[in-house]
Amino acid sequence: MSTQAATAERTVVIGLEVHVQLETDTKIFCGCSTEPGDDEEPNTRTCPTCLGLPGALPVLNEGAVEAAVKIGKAIDAEIPETTTFHRKNYYYPDLPKNFQLTQYDAPICQAGELEVRADDETRTIGITRAHLEEDPGSIQHAGGSIENATHTLVNYNRAGTPLMEIVTEPDFRSPAETRAFLAKLEEVLEYLGVFDPTRDGSLRVDANVSLVSEEDVADDGTITDEALAAANRAEVKNISSHKGAEQALAYEVTRQENVLRRGREIEQETRHWDEARGVTVSMRSKEAEKDYRYFREADLPALEVADWKDRIAIPELPDARRERFREEYGLDREAASKLTSTKAVADFFEDIAGEFDPDLAATWVADNLLGELNYREMQITDVEGRLGEFTRLIELVAAEELTVKNAEEVVLREMLDEGDDPETVIEREGLGKAESDEVESAVEAAIEENPDAVADYRDGDEGAINFLVGQVMQATGGSADPGDVNGLLREELDG
Ligand code: ADP
Ligand code: ZN
Ligand code: MG
Repeated sequence: MSTQAATAERTVVIGLEVHVQLETDTKIFCGCSTEPGDDEEPNTRTCPTCLGLPGALPVLNEGAVEAAVKIGKAIDAEIPETTTFHRKNYYYPDLPKNFQLTQYDAPICQAGELEVRADDETRTIGITRAHLEEDPGSIQHAGGSIENATHTLVNYNRAGTPLMEIVTEPDFRSPAETRAFLAKLEEVLEYLGVFDPTRDGSLRVDANVSLVSEEDVADDGTITDEALAAANRAEVKNISSHKGAEQALAYEVTRQENVLRRGREIEQETRHWDEARGVTVSMRSKEAEKDYRYFREADLPALEVADWKDRIAIPELPDARRERFREEYGLDREAASKLTSTKAVADFFEDIAGEFDPDLAATWVADNLLGELNYREMQITDVEGRLGEFTRLIELVAAEELTVKNAEEVVLREMLDEGDDPETVIEREGLGKAESDEVESAVEAAIEENPDAVADYRDGDEGAINFLVGQVMQATGGSADPGDVNGLLREELDG
């Protein structure tokens, strides 16, 4: 088919520029808070520095530098002896100084990498650089879109939020790989405690795409720098999620294939991802670096960071932790993956696993707890402070004071819905010891009331026991554990 013919001759090449907001208490060059208040008024979290007032000077936030160094260590980047800041000059209403404070030729992280797994293949994606910069303010077009707005509002509360811009090599060969990379990156950043994926706009992606002629791709998949530079590429802006990246890039690959199939050239341009319509639209021809007139920020001295790398520790990262969970707790790949999906989940599991058999702990955290939380759109962080309550719940099951079924379907659910501790739920629902007495009397009643089934069982008819289990289940309103009932019946009948 024609689509296949077109892709057969060309290789998809993608490189990403990812902006992530760093979790610090205050902004990168002033003391204003980075935490948006509930229903905060516009332009209230500001000061002369982040408003760009004359004479206000920047002071670099140590916390932002520490976060950047953590990221550098996690991606195996080189951290230079000295890092410097530059002004990137352009006019836009969200940028009151008329320049963005960023880094240019001495970024804090250089030449790193990150491994990703996609399409059943593990690949190493080169990270060219990662640098610190300030977020601009945000603008809001009154009337919805820029085309029909009567005026535009600007809010500087976001201005000066620390950002890390992470630039990859053009190492991706499919939209799926970029999605896997973003998921992996987010996971690592969350482990480092420098990023909050739930915050609106905390991740923004620009994706560069080109189709490189197959002749320029060596047998081992490498492409020369000349061929990469020569390939006309589109830069797709306004991507804000992993899924959005995959969709925008899939659309863009098809669009470029169609342009080439008609014998036309790909324009070197900036395109906008319109998520609602699922298309990319041309915005402008691509600006060049020289347009920004970069120069050193004279108000910030060069920062010596050589020894920060040794001074700042990072936690065990997701891949290593997954591997250790498999070895130390004997978990399979899937369980180990689930239980390391965030650092908070992994920490929670290890606390529980310290008290119980690892299999039991894994089932409770990976299947029961995460499943119920997910259903309620809750996070493990919502119940972190209740570790003791969940431990007691599992203890009650392990001690057979509560059936597995009741624990999972009644107690756990009400603990999450009502915020109650397990004892309160058990008492309210009458599930404690009284419950097992109830099961025992139902077992006795079933034996007494069904002499035929009892006789059949004693004659070796195994099917008869299922009938009796059914009677007990009915009598207890389905709250008993069928396995337990089966055992109790056999005890009575065989004894
Ligand atoms: P520019 O100076 O135009 O911003 P850079 O060299 O800084 O270009 O690269 C910007 C981004 O474009 C990087 O993420 C890089 O991986 C990506 N990129 C470079 N060449 C290509 C290409 N041929 N196809 C797709 N992406 C590319
Ligand atoms: Zn400020
Ligand atoms: Mg660039």
